[in-house]
Amino acid sequence: MKEEEKVIKMELIKITDCCYYFKGAVNIGYIKYNNYGILVDSGIDPSVAKKVMKIVQKKGIPFTHLFITHAHADHYGGAAYLQEKYKVTTIAPPFEEAILTYPQIHTMLLNSGNDSNKELQNKFLQGQAVKVDKICNEGINTIDDITFTALHFPGHSHFQMGLLFDNILYAADSYFGKDALKKHGIPFIVDAEQTMETLNKLLEIDCLGAVPGHGEFENDFSSSVQENILKHEEVYQTILLLLKQRYKGLEEILSSVCLKLNITLNSYMSYSLYRTSINAYVTKGINRGDISYHFENNKLLFTNSKGLYYN
Ligand SMILES: [Zn+2]
Repeated sequence: MKEEEKVIKMELIKITDCCYYFKGAVNIGYIKYNNYGILVDSGIDPSVAKKVMKIVQKKGIPFTHLFITHAHADHYGGAAYLQEKYKVTTIAPPFEEAILTYPQIHTMLLNSGNDSNKELQNKFLQGQAVKVDKICNEGINTIDDITFTALHFPGHSHFQMGLLFDNILYAADSYFGKDALKKHGIPFIVDAEQTMETLNKLLEIDCLGAVPGHGEFENDFSSSVQENILKHEEVYQTILLLLKQRYKGLEEILSSVCLKLNITLNSYMSYSLYRTSINAYVTKGINRGDISYHFENNKLLFTNSKGLYYN
């Protein structure tokens, strides 16, 4: 219950004359441009979306568009409610749009492609379906009279996009604020190589500041991004070290890495999320030639195929 209260307590923070964000467990961006009002993500469920709209109405500011950065339920779970109650144009990146249309795809992916068990079909992993009106592409997009830049940030999800407006970056989960990073132990990823490319891309973006999906707005967000880079390097090196002159299966790698990083897996949800991330690092290792594999008694086993440290 306490967590729930924390989630729905929102506060509107001004960054520039156009750019704001509702600070919460999952941040929601707000852009005011002429008579348009764009929400960047919708919060995890109808109660969060309701709270946001209460503030929007109290302040007499418009709400006309909804930009969903990626198809993770904590970012889109309130969208169906907003679509039902308000006339809104919903924008999302390609591919994420497919998952927003069929949200069970995400829990299926977490369950190795099988239909997931009921425990995974909770509001953190599977929200109500969202109708996407417009697909955005990387670069400059003009929708109605609003021109914004969409930036492709894959790695955390398959086709996540951030939004740049008035020199402010709504970065979604391309990086986590320092406290959120500590809390998660290992950030959720689906592709370890793309995650690093996205983090390096963030360091090259020239803007006034960024709002991450989890964390605070920072004018200079480079040290937060660097901490994310170090965390991913640490996990990758931990796996390579673990596999040095040894063969281990994915389950054993998952268990050992979590033990080392003080992460407790105690639910199907935490198991599925961390297993997906660990599999992303192992896949990166195979693609890079750092990890090789063989089968023994019908078991898939991995090993470090070279020396100890890699970049
Ligand atoms: Zn996410």
